[in-house]
Amino acid sequence: MIAKEKIEKYKDWIFRMSAYNMALSVIGIDKLTVAPAGGNAYRDERSAFLAGELFTISTDPQMAEILKEMKDDTDIDPDDRRAAQLYYKEMTNRMCIPKDEFVAYNQLQNRSYDAWLEAKTKNDYSIFAPYLQQIIEGAKKIYGYRNSSEDLYDLMLDDFEPGMTREKYDVFFDAVRNQIIPLIRKVTEAEQIDDSFLYQDFPVDRQKQFTDELLPFLHFDKDWGYQNETEHPFTGWICENDVRTTTKYLKNNVMSAIFSTVHEVGHATYEHDIDDRYDGMILSEGVSSGMHESQSRLFENYLGRTDAFWEVNYPVLRSYFPEQFEGITKEAFMKAVNVSRPSLVRTEADELTYPVHILIRYELEKALFSGELPTEGLDKVWDDMYEKYLGVRAEKASRGILQDVHWANGNFGYFPTYALGSAFSAQFMHKMREDIDVDRALSEGHMEICIEWLKENIHKYGCRYDADEIMRMATGEPFNVQYYVDYLTDKYSKLYGLE
Ligand code: ZN
Repeated sequence: MIAKEKIEKYKDWIFRMSAYNMALSVIGIDKLTVAPAGGNAYRDERSAFLAGELFTISTDPQMAEILKEMKDDTDIDPDDRRAAQLYYKEMTNRMCIPKDEFVAYNQLQNRSYDAWLEAKTKNDYSIFAPYLQQIIEGAKKIYGYRNSSEDLYDLMLDDFEPGMTREKYDVFFDAVRNQIIPLIRKVTEAEQIDDSFLYQDFPVDRQKQFTDELLPFLHFDKDWGYQNETEHPFTGWICENDVRTTTKYLKNNVMSAIFSTVHEVGHATYEHDIDDRYDGMILSEGVSSGMHESQSRLFENYLGRTDAFWEVNYPVLRSYFPEQFEGITKEAFMKAVNVSRPSLVRTEADELTYPVHILIRYELEKALFSGELPTEGLDKVWDDMYEKYLGVRAEKASRGILQDVHWANGNFGYFPTYALGSAFSAQFMHKMREDIDVDRALSEGHMEICIEWLKENIHKYGCRYDADEIMRMATGEPFNVQYYVDYLTDKYSKLYGLE
């Protein structure tokens, strides 16, 4: 049995790290939401310093010894043992990186983000291209320090989704290519649904008023959550009772802010619902990116685009925009919000074409890291792939290669989890519908019944178990992509009257 003072040291170490993490989260969220760009350089330098300090604490060699002992000690609390295993893995991945390299990479990430933002504003990919090249080289260098025989891109994939590799993702994306793309073609050739009424003039102040009514329906509570606005909606968290989300209002697209709100609240609810006793420690986070995305997509698509969800909410929406929705029945509205149509921007893509946006990014990342593709001219390659798979081409870079922030931040291997998450949701939803009357709960304004199911079966565990274990415990079987394919096929065949 491990000495008591070692356990105390471990608890103190966790607390110190949580203090730095809190500071960096607040600074990071502030930068993305309200901080004036003029202070970027000053703040970036100082946050890089804080990240460096955190790096020193998180790679304390004395703690490495303690964690090594704890991770296999069957006499200690199983929660602590699991946490020690995760901390130890994270630590060994970090300890191999020299501190100055780590700080330099952090600074590069900040500069690269600033360059991406400028490039996007000016619609000029050439401003960002050299930074993308540097950040790819930087990521390769950082991952190269890990003493692993595995391919670097596989290591990146595993960081976001433990256990996933190119081999497994290839199988998943083959299902997207072979079963979902043909379905998209059929939908494109079918008689189209009129959704033009969703793209009229919708004053933003009214949209905000509607959002204020929607948030309580979603049980996003001001006691623990706050919503802001950003160019690129996201969710960040300080602790379980301080979760921040953002949305983006578009005057000529009323559903964009609504569904981005529902999506981000899905992420926020997951973080908020994790068991209290894990707060501040490694167990208190969503277990993987795919699992996180499964919760936001479940909110957005599997609940948020159903008839039952709009039973209560459509009359409210209509009351804010009586002219725009004049003569639009709920049935017509439901068809319109579920329209599938190949488009350019991932975050605005419909459920059916969404995984193809990810397929494109996955193929590009694989080629970038294998060295098959240079960053120069990548904007053209991007556009060509959109044309090939979806039949659309960006008229400007901000709607093409510059639309997403992930690569600017050095997050490679992240995108694939988005599509995987949608597929996880299909399987969770199948089981939730067996257990509870989802449509009744939603149509009676009791979304908390669905949230409670998610909390009990998924959210409360945080990182206590791996994603595949949670999937087995919640649904009684391992992950199976067929639930996703069947769901999409069934839904869109009905919607478009396909054979
Ligand atoms: Zn998301």
